[in-house]
This record gives sequence, C-alpha cells and structure tokens, in this order.
Amino acid sequence: MDVFGLLGNPVGHSLSPPMHEAAYDELGLEARYVTFEPEPSAIEDAIDGAEALGIAGLNVTIPFKRDVLECVEADELATRIGAVNTIDFTGEGAPTGHNTDAVGALRALRDHGVTVDGARAVVVGAGGAGRAVAFGLADAGATVEIANRTASTARELADEVPGATGHGLENETLVDLLSDADVLVNATSVGMEEDETPVPADALHGDLAVLDAVYQPLETRLLRDATAAGATTVDGAWMLLYQGVEAFERWTGREAPVDAMNAALRDRL
Ligand code: NAP
Repeated sequence: MDVFGLLGNPVGHSLSPPMHEAAYDELGLEARYVTFEPEPSAIEDAIDGAEALGIAGLNVTIPFKRDVLECVEADELATRIGAVNTIDFTGEGAPTGHNTDAVGALRALRDHGVTVDGARAVVVGAGGAGRAVAFGLADAGATVEIANRTASTARELADEVPGATGHGLENETLVDLLSDADVLVNATSVGMEEDETPVPADALHGDLAVLDAVYQPLETRLLRDATAAGATTVDGAWMLLYQGVEAFERWTGREAPVDAMNAALRDRL
C-alpha cells in the first residue's frame, strides 16, 4: 500500500483526496491519500517523519509552501518560484521538492487550445500563484506582463522573470496591457469571497484566453465577463486538476487518468 498525502493547515476542505483517490480506483492502485495538519513549527519534523514512515509523496499547501523549500532538495523551477507544492520521496536520497502549479496552469491553457509559445500574457497577481504562473508562462515562450495591487511586488517579480515587466493594478493600465494580449491569468484571490473581479470588463476582448486560478466559485465574475466579451475561458479547477495530475505522474510513473480525476473534482465543486 502506497501512502500519499497533503500537508497544510487547515486542509479539511481540500479537494485533493477525492481527486487522487479517484485515480487510484481507476487504475486499481493499492494506495491512499491522507491529509496532515502539522503545527507550523513542526514542519521539518513532519517531513522527516513522513520519510521515515515510507510515505511516497506529499502535496504541500498554505501555509507551508515556502517553508518546505528549506527541508527538501528543491528543483530549479521550485527554487525560482520560491515555493514547493509537491514532495517526492520515491527516489534515492533526500526527498525532492517541485512546483506543479506552473505546469498546472500551462496544461490547463493548452487543454483549451491556447498556444502559449509566443503569446503576450498578462498575469494579475504576484503572490504564490502569480509567481508560479509568471515563471511557467515565460519558460514556455510567452512575453509576460505582471500587474499587482502592490506594484512594487510586481516589479520585483518582473526583475526575476525573463522578459517580464511589472505594473500596478489601475484600470487604465489593465486596459492598455490587455488591448493586444493573448492570455490573461487571474492569480489573485479576488473573486473568491465576493462577486468581484480584478480586471474591468471593458478591458476584455474576443481574442483573449482567460484563466482564473480561483476555483471556488467555478464561475467567477471575471469568467462571466470574459464569456460575454467572447473570450476563451478556463476555470481554476483545470489548473487544480493538472497540478494534481503532474504530482500523480511524478510519484507513480503512470499516466494519470485525467477524466476520472476531473470528474471527482467537479463532483465536489
Ligand atoms: P497569495 O500568495 O496570498 O497572493 C495573493 C495575491 O492576491 C497577491 O498578488 C495579492 O496582492 C492579491 N490580492 C489579494 N487581495 C486583493 C485585492 N482585494 N485586490 C487586488 N489584489 C488582491 O495567494 P496565492 O497562493 O497566490 O493564491 C491566489 C489565488 O490563487 C487564490 O484564490 C488561490 O486559491 C488560487 N490558487 C489556485 C490554484 C489552482 O490550482 N487553481 C493554485 C494556487 C492558488 P498584494 O501583493 O497587493 O497583496
């Protein structure tokens, strides 16, 4: 029996257990996916303990994504992003740390027919998700503009992302940036708590593909506005799905049963 899991605090409402267990059921794997809520001060002990117990893989969520960097051998992308969301214990030697949020966003876009290589992309937000998406898009050949409420954070991130430029989140700036953009990603939490959007509706247009990292609710105001503008829309559950698919494939070496994982996820949203 292989044991996988999620480290976070809190993790009670996580959608990862049903998504991963649907994959084990579909492929007939003897495996379980469990959640752990260590105290923040015990994160290093938690990872050492997981290794000692023979746990095969862990996902990592808030508030540990950054702290875990110091406890594992982080790969180059996770190091640049500054966050680990997947730990792999299956190799020889020390556990390795990876960030599958970046690939999750890219696979979500590609799955909807969006070409990223050569695209002009605007990433709104410069927190954990914004960093992952900005590096992921730039590595995949997009030119990235980063707009964030705290403009200095966007500029600092843009200094690290090849070819990127940082901006504030003023409406005029967004209208200007989006006028000739191909891809827009909302990587802020705006739209989660209230029916709000970080991007004015009149900045959206039919040549855009819009990915909203927010997945609760699935249909955010941004995505409704994007649909009305004739844009291609990609909801946040696709990004969540593909970050999980990437972790599953890394841990098991098997091709993930994407449809079964997607169905389990959407059943619960
Ligand atoms: P985070 O590190 O706390 O960053 C939050 C970001 O949102 C920052 O850029 C922050 O701007 C911005 N923000 C917060 N409130 C705002 C407001 N009222 N107006 C404008 N900007 C605001 O959080 P995170 O981990 O990046 O997560 C961001 C969102 O992405 C969450 O909704 C999360 O659920 C989602 N997410 C989804 C996936 C997925 O797989 N679908 C994966 C990761 C995250 P400042 O810098 O100015 O504070």
